[in-house]
Amino acid sequence: MKSLTDMQDLVALCKRRGVVFQSSEIYGGINACWDYGPLGVEMKNNVKQLWWRSMVDRDDVEGLDAAILMHPRVWEASGHVAGFSDPLVDCKKCKQRFREDKIPDENRKSKKCPNCSGELTEPRMFNLMFKTFMGPVEEDAAVVYLRPETAQGIYVNFLNVASSSRQKIPFGIAQIGKAFRNEITPGNFIFRTREFEQMEMQFFVKPGEDEKWFEYWKEQRLKWHLANGIRKEKLRFHEHRDGELAHYAKKAYDIEYEFPFGWQECEGIHNRTDFDLGRHQEYSKKKQEYYDEPTKERYIPYIVETSAGCDRTLLVTLADAFRQEEDRVFLALHPNVSAYKVAVFPLMKKPELMSVAEKVYDEIRKKYRATFDESGSIGKRYYRQDEIGTPFCVTIDFDTVEKGVLTVRNRDTKVQEKLDASKVLEYLTDQISSWKLTV
Ligand code: ATP
Repeated sequence: MKSLTDMQDLVALCKRRGVVFQSSEIYGGINACWDYGPLGVEMKNNVKQLWWRSMVDRDDVEGLDAAILMHPRVWEASGHVAGFSDPLVDCKKCKQRFREDKIPDENRKSKKCPNCSGELTEPRMFNLMFKTFMGPVEEDAAVVYLRPETAQGIYVNFLNVASSSRQKIPFGIAQIGKAFRNEITPGNFIFRTREFEQMEMQFFVKPGEDEKWFEYWKEQRLKWHLANGIRKEKLRFHEHRDGELAHYAKKAYDIEYEFPFGWQECEGIHNRTDFDLGRHQEYSKKKQEYYDEPTKERYIPYIVETSAGCDRTLLVTLADAFRQEEDRVFLALHPNVSAYKVAVFPLMKKPELMSVAEKVYDEIRKKYRATFDESGSIGKRYYRQDEIGTPFCVTIDFDTVEKGVLTVRNRDTKVQEKLDASKVLEYLTDQISSWKLTV
């Protein structure tokens, strides 16, 4: 059994089965923008739900949904106007563009193109924020930005949330939403795109307690990825060293995943200190202090951030689940992520089979997202469900009509079990709730 080695195999599967399509494909596509198809949107929603529930079903985290467009001063305060830039170099010969910090060391030193060995230009700093205009006049005073991260919407609402929810520090605010970055070198399918979704949580703590909470959230976040079925050996932490640390960060770790194109960041956990609220206090001239009732202290909280890309987490999930055997390709997805948990098949399109199969299907659908397929051989139908990662297939045959016995087939082991039709929901619930990766 083989894991994913060539991203193109996953890209092709995603297109074939309606997981991800290239944006505006009939016009030749637009670089680094992707659309989620019928199955992709289900999987992505599942990832978001798993994240949201793990964050917000806690007593110490509140949810938020802030606007994408914000006051332009926000981006001055955050440092994005002055500093959210990547170094851009061009090859004078083949005209390809690169992010200087992402090309191999030897090319950076020799100023030679990694593609054709032509001469590279001097690096120019390129701001990654998308600019647009608010209102009918395109003038400097009307410039607004598409947010490059969701975090700022949380910071500027810190006091609103604290006072309306009556949360006491330590507490967090979680948000899922779109972010936009005019990336110099997007690519690797949905890994680096120009429009993407982030799942961010900012945890506000008393200065001095930040290191403890940083460790706590670092561990929690790794556990979350593992609980979603990602293989342990494919995940690791990477600590940002002095040169890599962002200007606001005291400490930062990435959770990295080993893609076919190497170890890459999937999520960041950052100790952002009091930088963000301090800057918003300075730029807005509104106090951003927290009043600690029991100790009568006033302070600007420190922030521990967990920041994951939703599209990137889905890519990790799909890449990790991809399996190839001699006779089939399948996605060993956790049932919590797969678009369907169950597929129901009548062996043939005979009315007596169809009516029993529909009854079973309706019963299962009360609890689990399921699909019904009556076309082609059972083998072909298994193959279709394997490719999209449906963990269980239920077949209705004459034994079901006559004796009330149906067959459940496991995606990963291909093992088929006969069981009483009345027990099918109980069986599936048991299997799904105790699901563990075995392949
Ligand atoms: P890089 O250095 O790779 O550009 P970053 O360190 O700037 O990334 P963060 O600002 O920490 O990334 O973003 C947090 C998370 O948002 C990332 O871990 C990633 O999952 C996601 N993310 C960031 N940029 C993109 C993008 N262009 N496309 C998809 N997801 C992204």
